[in-house]
Amino acid sequence: MLRRTAKGAAVQKHTNFPAFSEIAPTAPIARESHGWRAKCLQRLVRLEIPVPRSVALSFSAVRAIAAGQPVDARAILSPFGPAPLISVRPSSEDPDWGGPGTILNIGMNDARHAALVESHGAEAATTLYLRFVQAYATHVARLDPDAFAADKPSAEALQAALATYEAEMEEPFPQDPAEQLTGVLGSMARAWEGTTARLLRQAKGAPADAGLGLVVQQMALGIGRGQCGSGVIQFVDPVTGQPQVTGRYLGQSQGRDALADPEAAIYLTRDPRGLSLEEVAPEIFADLIRFGEACRHRLREEMQIEFTVDSGALHVLDAVKVARSSRAAVRIAVALAQDGIISHDEAVLRVEPRALSELLHPQVDPRAPRDRFARGIAASPGAAQGRIVFSSTAAQACAARGEPCILVRRETAPEDIRGMHAAAGVLTERGGITSHAAVIARGLGLPCVVGASDITLNARDKLLKTTDGRSFREGDLITVDGTRGEALVGAAEMLEPALDDAFRALLHWADAARDIGIRANADTPADATTARMFAAEGIGLCRTEHMFFEEGRLTVMREMIFADSAKDRAAALDRLLPMQREDFVRLFEIMAGLPVCIRLFDPPLHEFLPHSREGMRELAEALDKPLSDVTRRVEALSEFNPMLGMRGVRLGITVPEIYEMQARAIFEATIEVGRKGETVVPEIMIPLVSAKREVEMVKTRIDAVAAAVRTEVGLGFDYRLGVMVETPRAALRAGEIAQHSAFLSFGTNDLTQMTYGLSRDDAGRFMNAYVQQGVFPEDPFHVLDVEGVGELLMMGVERGRKVRPNLTLSICGEHAGNPESIAFCRSAGFDYVSCSPFRVPVARLAAAHLAL
Ligand code: PEP
Ligand code: MG
Repeated sequence: MLRRTAKGAAVQKHTNFPAFSEIAPTAPIARESHGWRAKCLQRLVRLEIPVPRSVALSFSAVRAIAAGQPVDARAILSPFGPAPLISVRPSSEDPDWGGPGTILNIGMNDARHAALVESHGAEAATTLYLRFVQAYATHVARLDPDAFAADKPSAEALQAALATYEAEMEEPFPQDPAEQLTGVLGSMARAWEGTTARLLRQAKGAPADAGLGLVVQQMALGIGRGQCGSGVIQFVDPVTGQPQVTGRYLGQSQGRDALADPEAAIYLTRDPRGLSLEEVAPEIFADLIRFGEACRHRLREEMQIEFTVDSGALHVLDAVKVARSSRAAVRIAVALAQDGIISHDEAVLRVEPRALSELLHPQVDPRAPRDRFARGIAASPGAAQGRIVFSSTAAQACAARGEPCILVRRETAPEDIRGMHAAAGVLTERGGITSHAAVIARGLGLPCVVGASDITLNARDKLLKTTDGRSFREGDLITVDGTRGEALVGAAEMLEPALDDAFRALLHWADAARDIGIRANADTPADATTARMFAAEGIGLCRTEHMFFEEGRLTVMREMIFADSAKDRAAALDRLLPMQREDFVRLFEIMAGLPVCIRLFDPPLHEFLPHSREGMRELAEALDKPLSDVTRRVEALSEFNPMLGMRGVRLGITVPEIYEMQARAIFEATIEVGRKGETVVPEIMIPLVSAKREVEMVKTRIDAVAAAVRTEVGLGFDYRLGVMVETPRAALRAGEIAQHSAFLSFGTNDLTQMTYGLSRDDAGRFMNAYVQQGVFPEDPFHVLDVEGVGELLMMGVERGRKVRPNLTLSICGEHAGNPESIAFCRSAGFDYVSCSPFRVPVARLAAAHLAL
């Protein structure tokens, strides 16, 4: 329709129909404006891969359609000829964000049906028409799908569907392809704007204004005469990432038929159930292999190709990144880099750091006997063993005792998060792969099985029963195999994590890229061995108190605590000295010259004393003292809030002999290892400091011990003395503390506790409520509070470095393994972060991502 402007020129009434572009090699198509599919198809076109003719509608065009702007469907259809037969496919920026389903066979109508009966046969023609009527009725007209269900395509089923449509809509099924396309575009555009779709994609990280593009594509039918069918093919194993051709092909099919019908599928590779595509159409198979190679080299990615064979001609409808496990992601990225297709840095960037934790966990040895009592969904990989607990509170209590446990729940809820943190593994009766338990466990790298429907829980009676009549109680030992989705009786034989060449190569490249050091927190030789296996650059925190809880030492420790005189105490410490020395020798040997930072004794003394009357009686017997003496002493050492009491350097000041013994053990171990040829420069760290004078006093004593050992042995050695910044005052006074410190290491666990005035041990009582109500964005013990605790860190860094520019700075609280906290520490100029050994690979990769 024309109208006249004031000057009399003719203009079209709707000049701004939503725009579209034919997907051609030089068309202006970008992922950010037209979505991944449109961009990917353009790349395939450029590679001269036979993609059916396609037209792309941009995000803004689709937005305009959703807002009700008229569509010029005839113009969109014009490239497809006089009797178009097309599909419409969604194309958002990221394939993971979902979107409306593809609609096939648009353009089918009575006339096209009649023509196809002639060219393709009645069965093919009817199948195509019926499918389109079903799709249009349910997705566009929003009619009940059940009313259109048909057992199999037949002329009667088609007539019935057309009649039902007419009865429900009070008009005949639309025959005009332009009207059909208008309906399909409108319904898909509006579906994207729906609340559920929006929430789903936002949960996957899509921004609030994420757009949808649409691709209108010429149909390759896949149904008809000659070799016809459809399928998918990929060239790597999605679980291992090893080269291997797999896929599915189903003759006389289209769309996702081949995937939806695994029983009927003819495998691409040889399969006893039927002929392979390779056998029935070797040239097509060879072409697909060639296209896969082309994608790999030119799209620089392992792609899964969706294809249709129509009367013997191959059409590639789509190519998507092969969905892959974390292990495969590493293998694929490394193989692409080793083949010179991508750079080492790009390979590093292609692997999500947190995904590495999946590769690191122990697995049940597949060769060992397994006594399975439950089977469910393999929700988070790796295997863990522990005692059954039925509540998060019990899990936390177990963790506090240092005993591994498996949290068994009907299902988990947000308030179970602390219990899950405390557990070694999780087993739930209900839930699927995206249930709370599954999602959280994967995030934590915790082996997890969900939906184990052959168990029944009775949490009140603390009883687990299985359908085959077995029952388990709280405290029974089980193994959760999160890789296979099974729960096993007892402690199954385990395999250490498989850290293959690809894993090592990737982390080696990450190390070349990163610019912040990564050490491990390791207290025992086993921890140190793990730290070395993961290529930690040293030990950033060795908590020595853990060494005194070992059997045989606890009694000597108790003797030391109960000593009445300095002489008795010295005697007990003399017995502890060789044990400590041996501990350090082993750590130094394992770490082979890498730095080892040893923290002097930290916990409150009463942790070493018995708490029950029975325990006290036994101790009285062992010490040959009256029970009343022991009770009195235990009472005297008890504190209302031991975490803020006689800990760390406070003990070092009041009972200096303990630190002196530890310093001597460290120095003697240094000499012993030095004699074997390994030069060690031990780092000694003073915990819980709040005042400069504390450091001065401890330093004077330790220097004196060093001098004494040097004189006694007649050999020299170096060591570095530093301070653990765990109190707000230490951060504020970092300038003067740095005068006596070669390094400062921020203990953000205690620093968080003291900055917030929150008890590390009791915060769980209200933390869930706080996080749920948005009082705290996250639990600050898990995610570093950059605003508050972070400001103290910044002050400490700035004040410390001002006084001592070469001051070594690090963080050794739990936060150190968290990629966001590593980003903070890197930007604050830290030299290294020190996290638990199993988080070292994630930290190495995360640090590389930050530097690239
Ligand atoms: C800390 O407080 O951050 C720390 C590492 O020490 P611990 O957890 O042993 O108190
Ligand atoms: Mg601490």
